[in-house]
Amino acid sequence: MSGWIAIAGLGPGRETLVTPEVRDVIAQATDVIGYIPYVKRITPRAGLTLHATDNRVEIDRATHALELAQGGARVLVVSSGDPGVFAMASAVFEALEAQPQFAGVEITVMPGITAMLAAAAAAGAPLGHDFCAINLSDNLKPWRLIENRLRLAARADFAMAFYNPRSKSRPHQFGAALEILRAECGPDRLITFARNVSHPDQTLKTVTLGDATPEMADMRTVVLVGNSATRRVGPYVYTPRSAG
Ligand code: SAH
Repeated sequence: MSGWIAIAGLGPGRETLVTPEVRDVIAQATDVIGYIPYVKRITPRAGLTLHATDNRVEIDRATHALELAQGGARVLVVSSGDPGVFAMASAVFEALEAQPQFAGVEITVMPGITAMLAAAAAAGAPLGHDFCAINLSDNLKPWRLIENRLRLAARADFAMAFYNPRSKSRPHQFGAALEILRAECGPDRLITFARNVSHPDQTLKTVTLGDATPEMADMRTVVLVGNSATRRVGPYVYTPRSAG
């Protein structure tokens, strides 16, 4: 039997947000590869080998998946949310590009519900007009590039979603990001901190940029910033469909 790789997103947390096609592929897999907390979400069963690894070894993980699939295994590579959003899908293609011996391996990418969309739904519709997503981690890009993108996105009046906003290893950068946003958007712009979205301990907090502090975000938070028209209606935050 020939092997394959399925790169799947497990959604933001809640089991009902795992798509039916991802559930099917979990049932067919012989091997699961991914970051420890995501592999933990897969129920062990006979005939299924779980390969959980730590953060920042994405290319090793991807190469392992390619090797196993070439050997005939049915390999599921898991990410949280969507696998194409700051996650494993690009890592697998980078590994494939660098190692042409794996060119024959069949690869399927299966979408999942990404954190910003689950967070936006929980808040109302803050991404209801044009928006962009920015990864605030400078692990794979220089901080000056992040600052530049932030500034230009704010000037273009995009609503914005920030992934990996603040970690223990880089505690100060999110404060700098907030300063840029305040300078570009003013203090009244709405900002939503959505933590552990779709988990039982989900928290959602919307404040103005003037009241936002760096401590409101951590690595389990996705941050949404509205555009200049984003506003509250009752307990909801929404961005109108029209602009200008
Ligand atoms: N592929 C994932 C993103 C991985 S990057 C996706 O599509 O959602 C990891 C970042 O995603 C975290 O630092 C956080 O900003 C965000 N994130 C992932 N799951 C989340 C959740 N349930 N609630 C809030 N933010 C989440």
